Amino acid sequence: MFVPRSLKVKRSSNDDIKSCVAKKIKPEGEDLQLDQGRDVSVYTSVTEEAITPDRPSSQSGPFPSLAGQLREDASVGPEQGAEEPVKSFSKTQRWAEPGEPVCVVCGRYGEYICDKTDEDVCSLECKAKHLLQVKEKEENLKLSSPEKVGSEPESPLDAAFYIYKEHPFILNLQEDQIENLKQQLGISVQGQEVTRPIIDFEHCGFPETLNHNLKKSGYEVPTPIQMQMIPVGLLGRDILASADTGSGKTAAFLLPVIIRALLESRAPSALVLTPTRELAIQIERQAKELMSGLPRMRTVLLVGGLPLPPQLYRLRQHVQVIIATPGRLLDIIKQSSVALSGIKIVYVHQVGRVGRLCQNGTAITFINNNSKRLFWDIAKRVKPTGSLLPPQLLSSPYLHDQKKKEQQKDKQTQKDMVTGANLMDIIRKHDKSNSQK
Ligand code: AMP
Repeated sequence: MFVPRSLKVKRSSNDDIKSCVAKKIKPEGEDLQLDQGRDVSVYTSVTEEAITPDRPSSQSGPFPSLAGQLREDASVGPEQGAEEPVKSFSKTQRWAEPGEPVCVVCGRYGEYICDKTDEDVCSLECKAKHLLQVKEKEENLKLSSPEKVGSEPESPLDAAFYIYKEHPFILNLQEDQIENLKQQLGISVQGQEVTRPIIDFEHCGFPETLNHNLKKSGYEVPTPIQMQMIPVGLLGRDILASADTGSGKTAAFLLPVIIRALLESRAPSALVLTPTRELAIQIERQAKELMSGLPRMRTVLLVGGLPLPPQLYRLRQHVQVIIATPGRLLDIIKQSSVALSGIKIVYVHQVGRVGRLCQNGTAITFINNNSKRLFWDIAKRVKPTGSLLPPQLLSSPYLHDQKKKEQQKDKQTQKDMVTGANLMDIIRKHDKSNSQK
């Protein structure tokens, strides 16, 4: 049986422990609010799976308020008040279970966040070792690149001034060279005034730490989906992208998200919604790799199948990138007594995870009366795909009620629409009411 551990540390400012932020998480294994409001669709050669969530293109999308609500409501989570001392020694910490944060030093359960580096550590012992390692690394770096000796580490302020500008190399290319490149790489784009793709990560002008992390992760050159998506994302445009499995879509949306999170003073600043827990874990792992060493970068996994309180606790630790599955997100919204109005988590399905790479797959979605307000939406969307719909759903009075309401709404919309046929009628009506006044 799992007994949720309760942990909250209050120490004096002199205390050695003060910079080891306790976190409560036992996770298992996008949305970026964008400014310009115009949609861009990016496809690379084989369009197998849409990875970037379909987001509203309006300037004031739902995400920031949702994130804000989550943060505020998490602060009244269920485990306040409970205390447990921070573990001093690594050997007293248990091993991490799959999907749980891992101590960067010893690989045990990374129960705490080191506030100097935002890395996961299991105990004070490993925190101290970790800080030593970081110091040593910095010293070595100074030795291997003497020109940087004496230079200040990157400050949050450096990153805060980031603005994406097309690199001179890209600017100097002819239009037909760009078109050729896109054609060769199978990049197809829809949308207005879509910025040119980058060819090298250097063209993004990222903060040094991020460039270093990319190299460390073995990202030498961007993949085609990254070439096109990253600059578009950096400019704050809405994107719907689709590319093959394993083509680098995760980093394609994470990199602009990371930059946005760096610029954003409020936390959390980004929400990545994924259909499965496994995908959420993969995304968090990649995000951690890419964000390592960047200021104020903390993540939380909000995924189902594990106790809620530790995830709520972690949510309170000023996290930036939230990586969630819809069910757990909904649980948290409910648990945190956030009003559900305004937050639409509609029919969530996992069909995208089966039948990959042209293989057939079977996905079964269970619905009951709790989701009755979605019956008509589900039937409407699933029917054209040829999927089997149960007679209980098709003959449900709720479904028919919703269908009728929608048809009435459509009729009203049509009535209100100005067309060649009713234009004169509208003008006459208007004139008549004016003359009566
Ligand atoms: P994804 O399609 O996002 O699941 O990525 C597939 C794998 O490719 C992941 O393991 C990434 O770490 C890796 N990857 C993503 N982008 C690059 C890149 N530009 N260079 C090398 N590896 C990459």
